[in-house]
Amino acid sequence: NIFQVAQMLAKLNEHQREAAITIDGRYLVIAGAGSGKTSTLTTRIANMIANNVAPESIFCATFTNKAAREMKDRLEAIVGEDNMNKVWMGTFHSLCVRILRKHAHLLGYEQVDNRSNFIIYDSYDVLKLIERIYKSLSFDGKYKPGLAMHYIDDAKNNLWTPEYCSYNNAESRTEQDMSLVYSHYQRIMQESNAMDFGDLIMNVVTLLEEHPDAAAYWQNKFHYIMSDEYQDSNPSQFNLLRLLAAPHMNVFAVGDPDQSIYRFRGSDIGIIMNFERHFAPCTVIKLEDNYRSTNVVVKAGNGLISNNPAPYDKVLRANKDEGENVDIIQLQSEYTEAAFIATKIKQLVMSEKYEWKDISILYRAGYQSMALEQVFVHNFIPFKVFGGQSFFEREEIKDITSYLRVIYNRKDDAAMLRILNKPTRGIGKTSQTAIEEYATSNSVSVYRALKGIDTIDSIKKAAAGKIKSFLDTLDHFEEKLNSNMSISAFARYVIEQSGLQKLYRTRAEKDKNEEERLDNIQEFINLMAHYEENHPDKPLDEFMQEISLISDYKQDGEDEPNVVKMMTMHASKGLEFPVVFNIGWNEGLFPSWRSNTQEDVEEERRLAYVALTRAEEKIYITYTNQRARHDGKGVQSYDPSRFIMEIPEDITTKTELL
Ligand code: ATP
Ligand code: MG
Repeated sequence: NIFQVAQMLAKLNEHQREAAITIDGRYLVIAGAGSGKTSTLTTRIANMIANNVAPESIFCATFTNKAAREMKDRLEAIVGEDNMNKVWMGTFHSLCVRILRKHAHLLGYEQVDNRSNFIIYDSYDVLKLIERIYKSLSFDGKYKPGLAMHYIDDAKNNLWTPEYCSYNNAESRTEQDMSLVYSHYQRIMQESNAMDFGDLIMNVVTLLEEHPDAAAYWQNKFHYIMSDEYQDSNPSQFNLLRLLAAPHMNVFAVGDPDQSIYRFRGSDIGIIMNFERHFAPCTVIKLEDNYRSTNVVVKAGNGLISNNPAPYDKVLRANKDEGENVDIIQLQSEYTEAAFIATKIKQLVMSEKYEWKDISILYRAGYQSMALEQVFVHNFIPFKVFGGQSFFEREEIKDITSYLRVIYNRKDDAAMLRILNKPTRGIGKTSQTAIEEYATSNSVSVYRALKGIDTIDSIKKAAAGKIKSFLDTLDHFEEKLNSNMSISAFARYVIEQSGLQKLYRTRAEKDKNEEERLDNIQEFINLMAHYEENHPDKPLDEFMQEISLISDYKQDGEDEPNVVKMMTMHASKGLEFPVVFNIGWNEGLFPSWRSNTQEDVEEERRLAYVALTRAEEKIYITYTNQRARHDGKGVQSYDPSRFIMEIPEDITTKTELL
C-alpha cells in the first residue's frame, strides 16, 4: 500500500528518510541507541517493495528471532502477508538453514526428496558428543567439555576448519588436544548428518566459496543484502554477507559500535568500523536524534559511554522532555534488593501510571533472576523470564523431541542416546557405555551399533532383547507416521506409546512441582496442532527444522502478555521499556569479576550503555553492600560498580535503604 509507505516515510526525520529511500548501492547507518536505526531499516524494506523490488530478492539478517518477528509484524500490515512471506528475514542461523536445506548435499550431507535432511545439534547435544570424544581420547578428567565447545565455536566463527587448526596449533598442548577433538567432532557430526549452530553459517560460506553453481544461484536470487545490529557481526557472518552481495553490491547495514556486546561469541567491532573499506564506495549516514528516551536517560548513556575511547564521532540528542532523575539505591543484600524492587513495582502499578508489562528488570548474570522470582511469586507480581531456560530446553520437551528426531532420522546419535533408556527399559549404564564406545571406536552411528547389538560382546542377552524391541518400536512409530496421521495425533501417540506420558504422570503424582511438566507436554501437542494448520505441506519437516532454532517460544497471535519482563542485559539489545530496573551494579558482578583487561571492561561498559538506553522514561539502579560469592562459598562485601560513578552526578538521586 503506497499510501501507507508514504506515511511511514513521512514519520522519519530527514536523515532517516535519506537512508530509507535508498535502494541500490552500499550504505552504513551508524548511530547511537534509540536513534531509529531499526525503524529506518524496516521502513526501507516497505519502500523497496512499494518500488517494485521483488520481496524474494531481499535478504535481511536480524540478531534475534524476536526482532525478526517484530519487524515482520510491522511490515505485514503495510506490504501484506504474501509479500512478507517472500522476504528472507530472520537470524543468520534460520536463513542459513533455508539455504542449506537446498544445497547441503553438495557438502556431503544426506538428501531425501530433494531436500537435505540434516539435523541441528543444540548445545546440549554438542556437549554430549564432546563427552563421548573425550572418553575415547582419554581426555575426560583432563578438560571440561565446555572448553572444546568454546574452542570449536570460536574456530567456526572465524571460519577455521579442523585442518587449519591442526596446522596452526603448535603453540600449546591444550590447543593441540582441542584441535584433535575438533577434527573427531567434525567427522562424527558429518557422519551423523548433523550440524551445530556454527556449521550453519560456515557451511553456507563454504558453499558460496567452493560451489560456483550454488553460489550463482543464491547470488542471483538475492539482490539486496541488509543487516541490523551490524556491530555484532563475527567474521563468518561478515563473509556470508560479503559473498552473497558480491555480484550486485547492494548492501545496507545499521549498527552502533558502542553496543557491540558479543565479543565472547566472536563479534568483532572491526567489521563495522571497516564497512567503508569492505564495501567501497559507500555512503555513511549518521543519525543524531534519539526518539526513545527522556533527556536524562540519553545523558546517562552518553556520560557513561564517554569513558570508553570513542570509535567514531557521535552525537546523540534527546527529543523528549528532561524526565525524572536516575534513581540509584543502595541496599544490604540481594534479598533486600529483590524486596525493594517488588515494593517499587507494586507502587508503580498502583499509581496507574504503568502496567506490569511496561517494566523490565535487567541483570548481568542469568542466576540473578532467582531471588526476584521468589519474591515476585510471594507478592503476586506476574513476570516472565525471557531467554532463560527455554521451553524447548526442558527435560520433558527434550525427551519428546528426541523421539521425534530419532523417528525422523535414526542416525541422530544425541537424540538416540537420550531416549535409549528413557523411560527405563532395562538397558543399563554399562550397556549404554559399551554401545557408545563401540560406535565411537568403529566410527558408526549409535543406531548401527544397536542394529548389530549381537556382535558387541559385553552386551548381555537380556539387554540385547530389550534393544531389539526398542528398535522395533521405532520402526512401528515410523510406519504410523507414514500412515497419514496428523502430526499432533502422531506426537500424542508417541508420547503415550513410548511410556513418556506414564513416566511424567507418575512423577507428578509423587511431587507437585512436577505437575507443570504435564502441562508442558500438553502445550507441546497444541503447538504441533498449530503447526499443521500453518504448514499443511510437510508439517513435520518444517517443525523439526524450527524446533532446533526457536529460542524464545511464543504463540502466534498472542498479544504481549501483561507481565514484568526479566532478562539479561545481553538479551535486551534492541528492545525498549518505559521503566528499567538495572540490578546488581556491584564491582565483581558488573563489571564481571572475569573482566581482567581494559578491553574486557570496555565491553562491559558497552553492555551498561545498552542496559541504560533501553529505558524510555525511568531508570532505577540498585547495588548492595554484600551478596553471595559467585563461587557459592558464603557471603562477602561488594563495592558499588564503577559504572555508577560514570553517570553524571547532576541527573542522579541517590538513596540508602539499609
Ligand atoms: P537500538 O540502538 O536500541 O537498536 P534503534 O536505533 O534501532 O535503537 P529504534 O528501535 O528503531 O532505534 O527506535 C527507537 C524508538 O524511537 C522506537 O520506539 C521508534 O518507534 C521511535 N522512532 C524512531 N524514529 C522516530 C521518528 N523519526 N519519530 C518518532 N519516533 C521515532
Ligand atoms: Mg535497533
